[in-house]
Amino acid sequence: MIDAAALLARLVRAESPSGAEGPARAVLAEALRAIGLEPVEDEAGNLEALKPGTGPEVLLTGHLDVVPAGDAGAWPVPPFSGEVRDGFLWGRGAVDMKGALAAMVAATARLLEAGFPGPVRLLFVAAEEVGGAGSRHAAGRLAPAAIVLGEPSGLRLMRGHRGRIEPHLVFAGTQGHAALTGLENPLFDLGRALADLAGVEIGADPETGPNTCQPTQVRVSPNAINVVPGEVELTLDCRYGPGVGRAGVLSAVRRAAGAARVYVPERAVRTGRTTVTYPFDFPPYALPADHPLLSAALAALGQEAAGLWPFTTDAPYLARSGAPVLGYGPGDPALAHTTEERLSLAELEAAVGGYAHLVEALYREASRWKPG
Ligand SMILES: [Zn+2]
Repeated sequence: MIDAAALLARLVRAESPSGAEGPARAVLAEALRAIGLEPVEDEAGNLEALKPGTGPEVLLTGHLDVVPAGDAGAWPVPPFSGEVRDGFLWGRGAVDMKGALAAMVAATARLLEAGFPGPVRLLFVAAEEVGGAGSRHAAGRLAPAAIVLGEPSGLRLMRGHRGRIEPHLVFAGTQGHAALTGLENPLFDLGRALADLAGVEIGADPETGPNTCQPTQVRVSPNAINVVPGEVELTLDCRYGPGVGRAGVLSAVRRAAGAARVYVPERAVRTGRTTVTYPFDFPPYALPADHPLLSAALAALGQEAAGLWPFTTDAPYLARSGAPVLGYGPGDPALAHTTEERLSLAELEAAVGGYAHLVEALYREASRWKPG
């Protein structure tokens, strides 16, 4: 038997920002060895282990990295203490999402002890919080029948989420002395575009509500108080539901952009010993509400219907393996990335049983239609 709460406390203390997940990886590697599995680290910094078996494989997955704690003094408890108060384990990553990782290891231990016959793969990925580099790297080699992704959901089954895209608008002008040039200034073009964007109709998704585009940053070049800029660049953070698609969002942005050039930048993220390059485009994901594996999972957990997360996850990249992705994790998603991050130990313990039940139900259902 493995103590999920003790493992979670060790994981929270093992601070693991994106790109430096080593401490969390080491804690999990030790826990996996303790239950008789052989963890393997890939070149992207992901940690993987297989409980062998026959029949369809179920993959349990989550990310090793956490967002920064910010000002430690703003926390009621030190953010990397893993301290327990009134039944809650506190700290950065307790909810997002080291609680799920600890519960997945404990659930696998429980399945091993119970003699569960199927294969269960554990995949703990790096660099999720900076765009999913770890999952994007690993997806190509995966071939499970079903994937369970442990992002926090308050133990509610989830079947997808909104997408996010980051268009940039570039307003070109002619750099000049502020004392000498007239009213030609790309900042005025920016102003008109911002006014149009405030009123732009981007539509709503029947399941996830209104689609949004928020201006988040402006870059002025050159950046000087007495120079008319030669170029102004606006960054937008757009969120959209699975039913709209990126094309609808981008065409609404282009309508508001006027003469500005619109592009979606690429980013190169160093993870482990490799670099993964991808655009600032994090697609939505939606598993059909009547998918047979989802129905089996809902029945196993006694839940009516699956929800949709407002934030993006690794699901679209994991789904490139061809397997459906089901979301299920302990913790209140509203506490993720905050200075109030804490996980109820009762909920953590419930997650251990929940993951074990899910693996059994998905294995049973997948065995019916996909003989392994
Ligand atoms: Zn997360």
